[in-house]
Amino acid sequence: MSAVSYEQFQAELAPCVLHEPADGYAPVPVTERLAQAIWFDQRLKRDGLQTADGRRVRVVSPGWWNLEAGPDFRRAVIAFDDTKPRLGDVEVHLHSADWHQHGHTRDRLYDDVILHVALWQRGGQPATTAAGRALPQLVMADQLDAPLDELYDSIDPGNYPYDLDSHVGACEPPLKSASPETIAALLEDAGLARLRAKARRLTRWIQRAGIEQALYAAVMEALGFKHNKEPMRRLAELLPVARLRELPATQAQALLLGVAGFLPERTVAGRDDATRRHVKRLWDVWWKARDEFAGAALSRDAWRLAGLRPANFPWRRLAAVAQLLAEHWELWPKIAAALASQPEPKRAARLAALFTDLEDTYWSRRFSFASKPQPEAELLIGAARACDIVVNVSLPAAVAQGRLLDQPALVQSAEKIFTGHPPLESNALVRFTAHRLFGQRVPPRLLRTAARQQGLLQIFHDFCLNDRSACQRCRFPEMARQFESRQPGP
Ligand code: SF4
Repeated sequence: MSAVSYEQFQAELAPCVLHEPADGYAPVPVTERLAQAIWFDQRLKRDGLQTADGRRVRVVSPGWWNLEAGPDFRRAVIAFDDTKPRLGDVEVHLHSADWHQHGHTRDRLYDDVILHVALWQRGGQPATTAAGRALPQLVMADQLDAPLDELYDSIDPGNYPYDLDSHVGACEPPLKSASPETIAALLEDAGLARLRAKARRLTRWIQRAGIEQALYAAVMEALGFKHNKEPMRRLAELLPVARLRELPATQAQALLLGVAGFLPERTVAGRDDATRRHVKRLWDVWWKARDEFAGAALSRDAWRLAGLRPANFPWRRLAAVAQLLAEHWELWPKIAAALASQPEPKRAARLAALFTDLEDTYWSRRFSFASKPQPEAELLIGAARACDIVVNVSLPAAVAQGRLLDQPALVQSAEKIFTGHPPLESNALVRFTAHRLFGQRVPPRLLRTAARQQGLLQIFHDFCLNDRSACQRCRFPEMARQFESRQPGP
């Protein structure tokens, strides 16, 4: 067997094209990441930039470097000819033919692309979206602001997108000069605003459907994080808590898995005894109920399973919900008890334990109907997701209930837990916003609570997401200055 090198893996992951410089020096390897960095830094002759079909292009913002599935840059702002600047996504490739070769023509994630950028023209077929919309194409090779080999020398793709002090927002200078206490207070304030906004949303749900349905729907939505929120929401509507409450867990599980479209065929030949028995138990319930949901039940296609860790598969989450609703099904009294428990510092942990403690005899050791039993039990709802539910559902619900029931102590208790809660798992949006606001030197202790993280996300939603001016007309830098000037002195 021939040896395989790490460099071979790299070449498979990020194919590169060897470019021969005009000066005769060694060829330079050009990767798609380099092309993306050129676009991100706009190393282009910006006056006179044109699409392949001759339209003038003015790039107000190259967009945000996207580290998730979908186009390379989100929310770019681009004007074509004399039209008003448009907001949309940008996809960057080495060659123009790559749009088709990478299958974007059929991929709905690329529906909002407004410009296809290629380093080199190769392949004549125009790029189109899944809806058949033809995309303007910009070929960079003849419009670079320096020879490609010089750009290769000056750009280190390993620094992108976060190890850079460029691409920070216009709010970075005022935040840089603010004291750590001011920044912490500003983020906590924004975090509390987010908590209260979530409480207002839940208040409406509670008024419409009652506290238990509101909590159940919100927990289901949180368990759908992040690509399955919609089917989870739909499931919570099709199977309201009133339909599931007080059912033995197996019955609730059969209904949830049946309506979700996850139940396997009744005959599961070849699977182990425990699986055959479990599937039979579920079908014993489901065959009597399925007519009730004819035409409404979800299909497996409604769910996005690609990229999920097996422990996070939605059927395991639904088994957890079935346990949550079985016996003593009401969740609010349990949350209220945890909020009032002693000692105070343990309250957040008690709230999380309502979810991490859930077990199911079959699913605690299985990832799917096809998998072998695991030697060790695996939590149905892991600690990170449970904390997420505490911060995003249980505490906002407590604030909402506190207001509705005129119990200010409940609101205070929830807000206190919120401001002291350890940070949730970081994600691309938190890192992105932290970089925009603070550059590469994010003060180390800055995001040490969930409230401050949430504050960062709130600023992103209130300001960055609404900005179409590459920060030029954003009011946040001025507001940050005002916030600092109003802070009490030392
Ligand atoms: S849009 Fe506003 S808040 Fe966002 S990075 Fe720019 S200046 Fe900062």
